[in-house]
Amino acid sequence: MSEQCILCGSSETNQVSQVRIKDLCLLYHNYLGCDISQEFGAHTEISYCHCRECDLKFFAPSVTGSSKFYEVISSKMGPNYYLSEKSEYAFAGAVLQDCDNVLDVGSGAGHFGRYVKGGFTGLELNPAAVSAARELKVNVRNESIEEHLLQNPGRYSAVTSFQVLEHVASPHAFIQSCLQTIRPGGLAVISVPSEDSYVSLQENALLNMPPHHVSRWTDRCLKNIENFFKIHLEQLEHEELTEVHAASFAGIIARRLVRQRLGCQTTKLIDLSFRSKAVGRIAYWITPFCSRFLANSPIYPRGHSVTAVYRKLR
Ligand SMILES: [Zn+2]
Repeated sequence: MSEQCILCGSSETNQVSQVRIKDLCLLYHNYLGCDISQEFGAHTEISYCHCRECDLKFFAPSVTGSSKFYEVISSKMGPNYYLSEKSEYAFAGAVLQDCDNVLDVGSGAGHFGRYVKGGFTGLELNPAAVSAARELKVNVRNESIEEHLLQNPGRYSAVTSFQVLEHVASPHAFIQSCLQTIRPGGLAVISVPSEDSYVSLQENALLNMPPHHVSRWTDRCLKNIENFFKIHLEQLEHEELTEVHAASFAGIIARRLVRQRLGCQTTKLIDLSFRSKAVGRIAYWITPFCSRFLANSPIYPRGHSVTAVYRKLR
């Protein structure tokens, strides 16, 4: 039986691959130093699916992380997790310069507020980030979008959500709630990791899998959102490749070259075989050479994020 798409509800989906929870937990254990198997309950496998209708790639069941999981991951990554600067902030700030009242969903400590000229309200579920916002004297509330919507339908001229959509179990319900907080003619600005960037080429990319990310977004899928809500896509803005991303990309190219040379290409999302570890070890040594070669090459792909700007139709 086909899995139902978590964006458009279609059953026109196919299973691209399957991930063993045991393997996923082992990767997380190596990275975080703790066992996260309780996040998956009784599941032993998770499907990675593609929706032919809207082009969303998603995991089924869409197991999302508990607050404990986010506590662990944010403490492991430190300030890199809730970044005070995101490349899309300046772009979105310019797009929203005429908006008098902006709601940011999943705002962290409310750093985007600096780019907003009018009123700013952030919504954040992590209590530590809400306390940090209070210290910065930024208006951030410890509420979900669904709770906030109850008292504030149609209140805002714009809603934003940066790097949140890929974390939610039901993107359709999330987008619908966001759109109900803005007036007709208002703007919705949504950024996600781009599946049309180097991100989709990463191997064993645990942070792009459950319980962290449960969906992956192409430009085509972001355009297709228009078909399910009364909105029009006005703009898609891709981030340029940063220095950090360029280093990741060089590592990806190195692995691909080694795999090609050894004749062991893989389509698996997780490959923990001895051969894969050997590929990683050799690739590690040749990555600096790939970096130097790529620095003068025109083949650099797009950077990590893409930002979509939608107008709510009247
Ligand atoms: Zn779909």
